Amino acid sequence: MATGKIGVTTENIFPVIKKFLYSDHEIFLRELVSNAIDATQKLKTLSSFGDFKGELGEMNVKVTVDKKNGTLTISDHGIGMDADDVDKYINQIAFSGAEEFLAKYKDTANSIIGHFGLGFYSAFMVSKKVEIRSLSYKDGAKGIQWVCDGSPEYEMKEIDKTERGTDIILYIDDDNKEFLEQSRIDTLLKKYCRFLPVPVISGKEQEWKDGKYVDTDKDKVINATEPLWTKKPADLKDEDYLKFYHELRPGEEDPMFWIHLNVDYPFTLTGILYFPKIKSNIDIQHNRIQLYCNQVYVTDQVEGVVPEFMMLMQGVIDSPDIPLNVSRSYLQADQQVKKISSYISKKVAEKLDKMFKDNRQEFEKKWDDIEVFIKYGMLTDEKFYDASKKFFLLKDVNDSYYTLEEYRKLVEANQTDKEGNIIYLYASDKSNQYSYIQGAEEKGYNVLLMNGQLDQHIVGMFESKLEKTRFVRVDSDTPDRLISKADDKKADITPMEADMLTTIFRTQLPEIKDTNIVVEYNALSENDSPAVVTQNEMMRRMKDMAAMQPGMNFYGQMPDMYSLVINTEHKAVKEIIKDAEESIGGEIEPIRKETESFNSQISELREKLSEKDADKNTLNKQISDLEAEVTKNRSKEEEIIKNYAADIDNVKQIIDLALLQNGLLKGEALSAFIRRSASLL
Ligand code: ADP
Repeated sequence: MATGKIGVTTENIFPVIKKFLYSDHEIFLRELVSNAIDATQKLKTLSSFGDFKGELGEMNVKVTVDKKNGTLTISDHGIGMDADDVDKYINQIAFSGAEEFLAKYKDTANSIIGHFGLGFYSAFMVSKKVEIRSLSYKDGAKGIQWVCDGSPEYEMKEIDKTERGTDIILYIDDDNKEFLEQSRIDTLLKKYCRFLPVPVISGKEQEWKDGKYVDTDKDKVINATEPLWTKKPADLKDEDYLKFYHELRPGEEDPMFWIHLNVDYPFTLTGILYFPKIKSNIDIQHNRIQLYCNQVYVTDQVEGVVPEFMMLMQGVIDSPDIPLNVSRSYLQADQQVKKISSYISKKVAEKLDKMFKDNRQEFEKKWDDIEVFIKYGMLTDEKFYDASKKFFLLKDVNDSYYTLEEYRKLVEANQTDKEGNIIYLYASDKSNQYSYIQGAEEKGYNVLLMNGQLDQHIVGMFESKLEKTRFVRVDSDTPDRLISKADDKKADITPMEADMLTTIFRTQLPEIKDTNIVVEYNALSENDSPAVVTQNEMMRRMKDMAAMQPGMNFYGQMPDMYSLVINTEHKAVKEIIKDAEESIGGEIEPIRKETESFNSQISELREKLSEKDADKNTLNKQISDLEAEVTKNRSKEEEIIKNYAADIDNVKQIIDLALLQNGLLKGEALSAFIRRSASLL
């Protein structure tokens, strides 16, 4: 019997491993089963090249729980190891500078294990003693036993072993008794080994007998050795993909479609990505895509490995080029991984493009379910944006779909403003903005429906990417002014009339919480409403953005700003002006005259102020006295108009109708409106 010291510079490496790797300790099983699979595959390869001439026999990996003896054994019939191999691969592993490494990579167990090639040693995370019993495939090889209790000392001796391959026997320590439960092992094997390429056997199949489940004689095979992604797409039917999907995501609705990835160069990657129906909220779940390395489960934390928008997809990606045992931050910085990410993004765009070209109608039917995904991709991935331009669809309020190019052609002629911008009109809510949509359509405009969660961002994106393109929401101005073509028609009223008109309406506006309304007037057509409420596009966007970004509080706290635009061409409005003139014009006239004279006196005094030897103090005093008079007059005038307007039902009626159209009339104001309307009948 030989004893020796494992080539470790640090005496107490195992306690260190145990401590650092504690949180992830279940991965020992993945490591040991992977080693067993590797050994099996290696022998198959040797055999296929004729370098191994013996019988392969049954090639599987067995995981045996022996609760009574407190052991867990992983057995394979692979290439095995002789004394030299054990010395080389197990005893002499690169432990030099281990301490330094551990200090550096203590973030996750995975990273330590990966950098050291510590796979085998992870067994010590759960064991007080580990035994290797192995017989190499080589002619004349002798069986070998290696035992180590977790100190750097090991024992090695020849044994009688007749079966080729390796048994790794773990003497599970007291803290890790859970790994002596078959059910726990089953769970782990399901997680890590579900798609390994060699049958993994653990426990027995069970059957229902005399009111309970009992073991049968049949070995229980854990894994599907040829998962769907390893097969040729040409050999697979839709049912196969759906079946596999439901194995991966039990209980979920059928996906809309999928992409089978298969590439050999410049890296190797296979996989299947499914597009689920995304209903309401974009919930980016982080466990929808599973990463495999040669069919060994690595992780479902794929941030940084797949493009961000792909987090909405589900499925599997398998690549030997994805480093198996490294931390996530390392994965994200890896150049190879970056290439993989952009490759996947390209593939997804190609698939969508093909679907669009093959059957536009079907594509349109799916659009509402996949648009979030595509929009997300376009917003976050420049290359994906470029690739998606061809099949991206805009949907209008009448459920017609257009590509970007088609839409431009559609609206170019009628919706270009005087500055040459093409105006894309849109509604965010078909029923609330119904009358505005109608107003726009009556002018022959097309109105898009932009009611998706990402549409605010999409609007901004297209404005910056598409040439001379502006998006304007239908309720942001009167139909006439949504797209300003020639200079606006001037309202045909005197300044005095205009002043009276806006004051009449301003003084009768109801108070609405957190809302400011400015009164304007404009000469719309006589068939348009007497007044409309509009909301400035830019202001609204600022507020919308603020609502989404915590940093922009300033805008968020501002009241909503609306304009009440009075249509000076409307019959009722004309009447209001005329009646007001007749009723209170005479009363206001002298006040105005007086104000005018005050104002001209003020101007004269201001001029004097700039003279060299001016008596500044006296002049300023005189000016401020006059200004006070002007203010007094203003309020006098306003008081007269307000009192007069208060009795005119039509003014309130016009205001309320406009507010109602915009959904701003609520509560008490609404019921007052209804009462007034009834009494007017
Ligand atoms: P890695 O697998 O990353 O090389 P490990 O510590 O897991 O690191 O294993 C070290 C080496 O020990 C393997 O490369 C292999 O040569 C050998 N080995 C481990 N397990 C087995 C096994 N079951 N059969 C044959 N050789 C094995």
